[in-house]
Amino acid sequence: MLSQEPAISSCKENTLPSRENAPDSSEKSTMLPRGNLSEERMKSTIPPQPAADFLNVEIGGPAAEGIIHSTESFGAVDGPGIRFLIFLQGCRMRCRYCHNPDTWSMTGGERKTVGQLLDKAERYRTYWRETGGITVSGGEAMLQPEFVTALFEEAHRRGIHTALDTAGEPFRRSEPAFSIFRRLVAATDLVLLDIKHIDPEEHRSLTGHDNRNILDFARYLAEQKVPVWIRYVLVPGINDDTETLRATRAFLDTLTNVEQVDILPYHTLGIYKWEELGYTYTLGDVPPPDEETINRAREILCR
Ligand code: SF4
Repeated sequence: MLSQEPAISSCKENTLPSRENAPDSSEKSTMLPRGNLSEERMKSTIPPQPAADFLNVEIGGPAAEGIIHSTESFGAVDGPGIRFLIFLQGCRMRCRYCHNPDTWSMTGGERKTVGQLLDKAERYRTYWRETGGITVSGGEAMLQPEFVTALFEEAHRRGIHTALDTAGEPFRRSEPAFSIFRRLVAATDLVLLDIKHIDPEEHRSLTGHDNRNILDFARYLAEQKVPVWIRYVLVPGINDDTETLRATRAFLDTLTNVEQVDILPYHTLGIYKWEELGYTYTLGDVPPPDEETINRAREILCR
């Protein structure tokens, strides 16, 4: 989901500079025109977002199967320590900067069992030492909540630290989904949660969905006291203005479980995948944020 970012700027909540250092709100904005995603999609070839809520996988033990896009043996930025990364297939969001559009399809991927994945992960266990473990990402990992729950519960039986890298959009407090998510969260040691835009309509324009479920998932994780690392892809003209950053920080201030904020500068390294898939990339004119913009975001989000 957000792996392989070239330059993550992280700040731990308990070692952050004070809020007084935040710049004045009169600071010049770098806002660009914000295209509406649905209008853009009419002009583009982006596949529609599937309506189905979840893939039909029941919670099981080591024999439970998930639909896997790929794995990586040595992740260094997706949770503490060295981690075995498992990327799941399928995502309902359509983030305009997504660098893994090849994970969107709900029908691709390869079926693998919990046992197969953990046996493979444990080959690298000596590299994890005290801090590493597994991180499940995507695509959107929470579209296969029953499988990830089975995976994490079995990982805990084997003494493995579990991290969930998610945009949180599938979360809801209505049944039957809520019971599944409750059990998933109980088996999760750390959540890496994307906040893509704090404004619901801007979020919809950027991703195709509003952020209601995502912010509610953040609140639920706080209620459950699950540690969270917030991940914020900083996109010039989209979510880098002072007002948006301050509103994001104000939301984070309502949470009691945020251990770290990662600022991920927008980049265009994934455009070639859009071209290969025949999709139209709508942020082609947006440059990566400059150093000053990244520092300003850091001062506000990492107050
Ligand atoms: S949540 Fe967004 S960035 Fe992540 S895989 Fe889905 S479309 Fe891509």
